[in-house]
This record gives sequence, C-alpha cells and structure tokens, in this order.
Amino acid sequence: MSSTTSTSADQLTFRGSSLQLKNLCMAYGDVPVLRNVSLEIAPGTTTCIIGPSGSGKSTLLRGINRLHEPSSGDVLLDGEDALRVRPDVLRRRIGMVFQHFNLFPDHTALENVALALWKVKGMSKSEATERARRRLTEVGLGERADHRPRDLSGGQQQRVAIARALAMEPEVMLFDEATSALDPELVKGVLTLMAGLCERGMTMAVVTHEMGFARRVADQVVFMDEGEVVEAGRPEDLFDNPRSARLQRFLSEVL
Ligand code: ADP
Ligand code: MG
Repeated sequence: MSSTTSTSADQLTFRGSSLQLKNLCMAYGDVPVLRNVSLEIAPGTTTCIIGPSGSGKSTLLRGINRLHEPSSGDVLLDGEDALRVRPDVLRRRIGMVFQHFNLFPDHTALENVALALWKVKGMSKSEATERARRRLTEVGLGERADHRPRDLSGGQQQRVAIARALAMEPEVMLFDEATSALDPELVKGVLTLMAGLCERGMTMAVVTHEMGFARRVADQVVFMDEGEVVEAGRPEDLFDNPRSARLQRFLSEVL
C-alpha cells in the first residue's frame, strides 16, 4: 500500500495510517521493561513521547516496528494486526529515524536514499535514483546529493536519514531522539523538517527531549516512566496541568 501522493510537482502530502497499541508488554530476556502500554495515534497526527532516560521509550518504538518483538499485547497498523505482518514488510510501512543517523559511510547521500529502493523495493536503478533525488531536494539537500556522510553536517546527515525513510513511502514515521546528537544550532532545521511532515499528514510517533517542539507540534503527548504510560493527553494539559507527581517532577527537571 502506498501512502504518498504527489499533489503537485514538488509538494508532497501523505496519507498516514492509524497506529494503535493495546496492552503492549515487552521484556529483555526475563526482565520486563514495558508494562501494558496502550495508546492510539490517529491518522495524520503526531504523538510526542517524553520521559526520563530508561523509561522504555526506545523499546516502545522498537516494538512497534519489531526490531524487538513484544511479549504480549497488540499493535494495529491501519487496523491490521502488525505483529502478524512479516517484519521486513512492516518496516517498509513504518519508517524509523534514529539518534545516530545510521547512514552507510561509504555511500553518497543519493546512494544512501536510493539503495533500499532498488534492493528492497525492487525499483530499477534509474527510477530509484530519480526518486532519491526528489526526496533529497524535498529535505533541502538537492545540492548535496553526491556528498558522503562525513562531508555533511550532523543536521544534513539526519535529513538524509529522513529522506531515506520517506523514500519508502511509509504510512507512519517513528523518530527516536532524532535531534539529540546534533549541535544546538543544527537542531532547528531538523525539527522544522519534522514539523513539515506533520503538517502534510504523516502519522508520527516522536520520542524527544525537545519540549518546545512537543508543545507546538504534538496533537498528543505521552509521558512514560518505568515502562508505563503515566499520563497522555493534549500538550497544554500535560505541560500546564500535570496531574501525577512523577510528571511534575520530570517537568521541573527539564523545563
Ligand atoms: P529510554 O529510551 O526511555 O531511555 P530504553 O527503552 O532504552 O529507555 O530502556 C528501557 C529499559 O530497558 C532500561 O532499563 C534499559 O536499561 C533496558 N534495556 C534497553 N535495551 C536493552 C537491551 N538491549 N538489553 C537489556 N536491557 C535493555
Ligand atoms: Mg531511548
């Protein structure tokens, strides 16, 4: 299923899918890490996930696209049981962007974006290259297509990683602290790009420490602590009226 439709030559919109988690439990070996996490992300909306280090945010994202298999509970993508979809097929439908970009160092920006298109999607090289070039242009890197990661700033590398994920035409995008490894002056460009995806209808789950971004962009904010969802709701409710002592303490430390 394709979720990306071009509306004009260079403006792209997305048809994001819904994502639902029901009583999701995850463990590493015998150690339980996520306990009964339930949440619902409506199509075309953005959910920001906040919480202290070690609270299970990365594990949650890894469970959604099956980099680590949940031990029980349900993940529904567009209403479909995602735990029954083949993991490699699922990962084409759910794009993920990591803190440390994970680009191939010996390939150019263009090759980094095009590679999965011909290897995984089975496109011809010329078709893949053409699409990759368009995606790079959309993230503002048309001029940098032939640069290798080491010749790009951290912010540019992260935009290549986002272009690479978008090239697969995902229905949902997951971001795990996408700006945490960037120098402060490079953070804004990546956040602006992410906010643009949100405006164009992508369904997104964004783990972030950028509270300004969460307040401005999120339709829903989820606060996790010790493997549980402690509070979830509209950003103004969570930030201005935290109900639990745990969220109050967390906000007093980060704001
Ligand atoms: P967060 O992203 O919120 O910082 P994580 O999901 O990375 O939290 O970690 C949640 C818990 O799971 C922590 O206690 C962490 O130590 C543990 N954990 C994370 N990854 C692994 C792993 N690969 N093996 C064992 N324990 C892990
Ligand atoms: Mg993490």
